[in-house]
Amino acid sequence: MSKTIQAVRGMNDCLPEQSGLWQWIEAKLRAAANSYGYQELRTPIVESTDLFKRSIGEVTDIVEKEMYTFEDRNGDSLTLRPEGTACCVRAGNQHGLLYNQQQKIWYMGPMFRHERPQKGRYRQFHQFGIETYGFPSADADAEVIAVAAWLWREFGIADDVRLEINSLGSNEAREQYKNALVEYLSGHKDKLDEDSLRRLDSNPLRILDSKNADIQALLQSAPSLTEYLDEDSQQHFAEVQARLDAYGIAYTVNPTLVRGLDYYNRTVFEWVTDSLGAQGTVCAGGRYDGLVEQLGGKASPAVGFALGMERLALILAERVAQETINPPTDIYLASMGESAELFNISLAETLRNAFPEARVQTHMGGGNFKKQMKRADKVNARYAIIVGEQELNEQKVLVKSLQDGQQEEVAQAELQAYLKLKLA
Ligand code: ATP
Ligand code: MG
Repeated sequence: MSKTIQAVRGMNDCLPEQSGLWQWIEAKLRAAANSYGYQELRTPIVESTDLFKRSIGEVTDIVEKEMYTFEDRNGDSLTLRPEGTACCVRAGNQHGLLYNQQQKIWYMGPMFRHERPQKGRYRQFHQFGIETYGFPSADADAEVIAVAAWLWREFGIADDVRLEINSLGSNEAREQYKNALVEYLSGHKDKLDEDSLRRLDSNPLRILDSKNADIQALLQSAPSLTEYLDEDSQQHFAEVQARLDAYGIAYTVNPTLVRGLDYYNRTVFEWVTDSLGAQGTVCAGGRYDGLVEQLGGKASPAVGFALGMERLALILAERVAQETINPPTDIYLASMGESAELFNISLAETLRNAFPEARVQTHMGGGNFKKQMKRADKVNARYAIIVGEQELNEQKVLVKSLQDGQQEEVAQAELQAYLKLKLA
C-alpha cells in the first residue's frame, strides 16, 4: 500500500461532525450583516504581493514572516491573502466603489499566514469582516463595534468577551509620539529583545504590540500615546465613546492597544476572551482613513473589523446544543420487498416537496428490517415510515416514533396531514 497523504500542517479539514457548527455560525454572521445593511464582497484568494506589502506594512509580523508568497508561471509575485481589508480596498478602487460613495461591505473566507500552529492559531483560518467606506464620523466606528456586540448576543457569548478600545490619533500625532517612544526605549536598549531592537529603527510603534512580557513591563513606564492625541482625534474618540454608551456597550480604554497592521489611525479596538489562552483576540479592527489613497484610489475614510472564525467556533463548541447544530433526520423510510422500495422512492420525493425544512432519507443498501431500523437509529431519525406488501395492498404506511417506540398505521391519503402535526 502506498503512503497516505496528509493535509498541510496548520491547515484543517472541516469534518461532517463539525460542519453543522460552522454552517450555523456562518448563517448568523450573514444574517447580522444583512440586518445592518451590509453587502457581501467576494474577492480572489490570491493577490499581487505588492498589495499586502503596501497596505499591511513592510515591517509587520505578517509581511516579514507570515505570508505565503510564490512566483507564478509568468514570474509575477503572488500571495495567498493573509487578511481581507487590503483586498476589499483593492477591489473597491478597481471597480470605482469608493470615491465619493458610501459603502457598507462584508466578506467571509479563508486567510493564510505561516505561523506556528496551536490552539486558535492556524495557517489556513477563516475571517468574517465588515468594512465601511465614506464615513468619517464617529457613528461609523460605533456601528462597526456594535455589529460585533450584536453577534456576541446572537451567539449567546456576550459574557465571554470584553471590548478594549484606543485612539491612535492622526498621522502627525503618531509621528510625535513615535519620537518620544524611541527616545524612551533608546534609554533601555539593554532590555529590548532582538525584534524590538530592529523595530526601534524601522517601526517603533510595533513594539507596543510585542507579546514579550519583559517588553510589556518596560512599556508600563513609557510615554503614553494618549498624551499625544491631536484635538480632532480626542474629539472623535469622545464621540465614539458617547455612541458606544448609547448602544449600551461596555468597554475599557487600553492606551497600549495599537494592532499589528500599519494602516490604522484614530479608533482601534479588540474583542478579547479569557477562554482561549494566549489566542484571546476574537475580533479586531479600527479606522484606516489613509489606506484607500495609499493603494492608489482617491481618499476615502474607512473603518472595519475582522473576526477570527476558528476562535469563535472554539468558544461556541462547548456551548451550543447538538440539536441546534446537527438536527436529526426527521423521517427515515424503510421497506420490505421491491414494490415497497419503489413506492418509498416516490413517497420520499413527495415528502421532501411537502416539508422543505425536513430531513428525509430512504434506506439504501438493502438488508432485513432489523438492519434498516439499526440504520435509522444511527442517523438519529425521529420517525421511521415502514412499508411492506401488506401496507401497499391496504394503501397505508406504518409510522414509528423512534423516540418512544410508538407505532401507528396511517392511511397514505392522510400521511401529510399526520406528519405536519408530528414534525411541527
Ligand atoms: P494575533 O495577535 O492573535 O496574532 P492578529 O493581530 O495577527 O492576531 P488580525 O490580523 O487583526 O490578527 O486578524 C483578526 C483576527 O483574525 C484575530 O483577532 C484572530 O481572531 C484571527 N486570526 C488572526 N490570525 C489567525 C491565525 N493564524 N489563526 C486563526 N485565527 C487568526
Ligand atoms: Mg498575528
